[in-house]
Amino acid sequence: MNIKLSNGKVIPIEMHKVRVIQKTTLPPAEQRLKAITEAGYNTFLLRSRDLFLDMLTDSGTNAMSDNQLAAMMVADDAYAGSESFFRLQEAVQDVLGLKYCLPVHQGRAAENLLAKVYVKPGTVIPMNYHFTTTRTHFELAGGKVLEIFGKEALNTSSTDPFKGNIDLDKLHSVIKEYGPEKVAFVRMEATTNLIGGQPFSMENLKAVSKIARENGIPMIVDASLISENAYFIKVREKAYADWTIEAIVKEIMKQADIMYMSGRKSTCVRGGMICTNSKEHYDKMAPWLPVYEGFLTYGGMSSKEVEAMAVGVREMVEIEAASASADMIQYFVELLCEKNIPAVTPPGGLACHVDARKFLPHVDSLQYTAGAFVAALYLVSGVRAMERGTLSNDRDIHTHEEIPADLELGRLAVPRRVHTMSHCMYIADRLEWLMKHRDLVGGLKFCEEPPVLRFFIGKLAPINDWGRKLVDAFKKDFGDNC
Ligand SMILES: *Cc1c(COP(=O)(O)O)cnc(C)c1O
Repeated sequence: MNIKLSNGKVIPIEMHKVRVIQKTTLPPAEQRLKAITEAGYNTFLLRSRDLFLDMLTDSGTNAMSDNQLAAMMVADDAYAGSESFFRLQEAVQDVLGLKYCLPVHQGRAAENLLAKVYVKPGTVIPMNYHFTTTRTHFELAGGKVLEIFGKEALNTSSTDPFKGNIDLDKLHSVIKEYGPEKVAFVRMEATTNLIGGQPFSMENLKAVSKIARENGIPMIVDASLISENAYFIKVREKAYADWTIEAIVKEIMKQADIMYMSGRKSTCVRGGMICTNSKEHYDKMAPWLPVYEGFLTYGGMSSKEVEAMAVGVREMVEIEAASASADMIQYFVELLCEKNIPAVTPPGGLACHVDARKFLPHVDSLQYTAGAFVAALYLVSGVRAMERGTLSNDRDIHTHEEIPADLELGRLAVPRRVHTMSHCMYIADRLEWLMKHRDLVGGLKFCEEPPVLRFFIGKLAPINDWGRKLVDAFKKDFGDNC
């Protein structure tokens, strides 16, 4: 929650007590250089022991609540008919207002099922923006992803509060061009992950949903960060200022025929689910659940996680939970902007994003600007961030050409209730130093490039051994042990 100090400054304040802690250490720069070299300059391949702060992702890394941990102790491990599942289903009905619930082991498993049932070769899937695993699943099923975002979506220094909106004219054009029968479904992602965690507005969602329904096209919401999107609607969309997060979430669900989510984000667990009010949609998907995931009442999740998710669904609509990461990100982004570090604005959900093209204007996209940025950040801070740029874009599935990404972002994830303000201050300081020494940073090239989702396990090397030079300059200013 944001709180105003007597001097007028607004800071995020923790609405919780920290009772369990996990130690971390700051490995010195020389050790960081060794670690990132062994990791092929890919932050995914670093080990936890070599990290000071892990800001790779908010996926499965949010702090769980005491009530979630307690619920895990009463899990019902029945293979079929588990009471844990019925507690989850009840939470879904109460909080989301949706009748049917298919648990899956994580978000991409939901995408796999949706692709299997709804995406046929030659169909198109219009959406506000793709997510990495989303595009891969839909393309592997023969579909084509169409991104129909508005004109501010890719402006990284914008004031548009809803850069996650769909452009309605473009949606009309897509339906006209392909015909409604060729549109597998329309997908709205709650806080578009790859372009800075930017939300959609309720007004836009309602308009999109109306167009989809008038054309007989299923409307699907990727609700992985639904609490943050609902929070942004509350604080940025006047008509909803007095609504509770729960009421906003329910209203979002009314616009969707199907919702799916990675439970690793908003519900702070390790799982996922697909929910709907439509028996017809449920009946289409349910038979495939035991094929890919597990029986209907666990779907590949551990029953402990199912229990924790049942609690997480209820807790994610508490204002303290929905605002925790968003308010910290706002503080973090403002801190960077004060230092003229090109953070993406407005602040979004899930992470503080840095526009790597502005930070490293001399590094070309085909030398993975954002990849170089996050490797350099690790070298000077021990902080692990994630590349969201051309590396995260696989090559064209047919021509194998590189696809330069719309944006080159360094993503500093802010998992809920894990990091503190002094962590943000430390990172801002190291980023300021890096900005002053950015000419030392060069590009990257692949040594080992996997054929699909290459950013996860691909190995790269720095062009011209710039990592060594950067560490030498850093040690000159900060000494050997920082
Ligand atoms: C994380 C995420 C997914 C994939 O979920 P996993 O649980 O990581 O498989 C899909 N969509 C969005 C928007 C996400 O943020």
